[in-house]
Amino acid sequence: MRRTAADPEIGDWLERTAPLALQCQQCGECAAVCPSQRHGGIRPAELMARVAAGAGWPNEDSLWLCARCMSCSERCPSGADPGEVIALLRERAAGRGQLPAYLREEAQRFFKTGLSFPRTGMTRKLRKELGLPVGEISEKALTECSEIVRRTGLGRFVRE
Ligand code: SF4
Ligand code: SF4
Repeated sequence: MRRTAADPEIGDWLERTAPLALQCQQCGECAAVCPSQRHGGIRPAELMARVAAGAGWPNEDSLWLCARCMSCSERCPSGADPGEVIALLRERAAGRGQLPAYLREEAQRFFKTGLSFPRTGMTRKLRKELGLPVGEISEKALTECSEIVRRTGLGRFVRE
């Protein structure tokens, strides 16, 4: 497996992603269906070409613009699974502490309140209209959230 001088760890990581990326035929189907690419976000076909060449993906910010809709993987005629490759790239970036601040804040909020997003006046109103609870999360549910954070390893992202 090729290693680059710029990123000596990339060889180990490529052992997980390359078997998928090397199946890519560069047909462009994933690019055609990707809602993120349509709005200037991630470019799955280009990413697959770079990963297959052992070049990694320089634009790590765009990784977090993937909507995880998995349309790319569903439409891929080669079984290359770009959605999974992007997930592995994210995992690697997060493991190196390269998680965008807004996602870190989201993880911290979930840890403390059980909610990814704060409840606003509007969301409280809508929940009331839908007959959903508008109060705070119960202690029991919060404990379960903490357990999820612990078991999934999300805890490393909630450190202040
Ligand atoms: S759809 Fe599959 S084969 Fe086609 S460019 Fe995307 S990843 Fe490659
Ligand atoms: S999973 Fe990500 S890369 Fe694939 S089509 Fe959806 S937004 Fe695009």
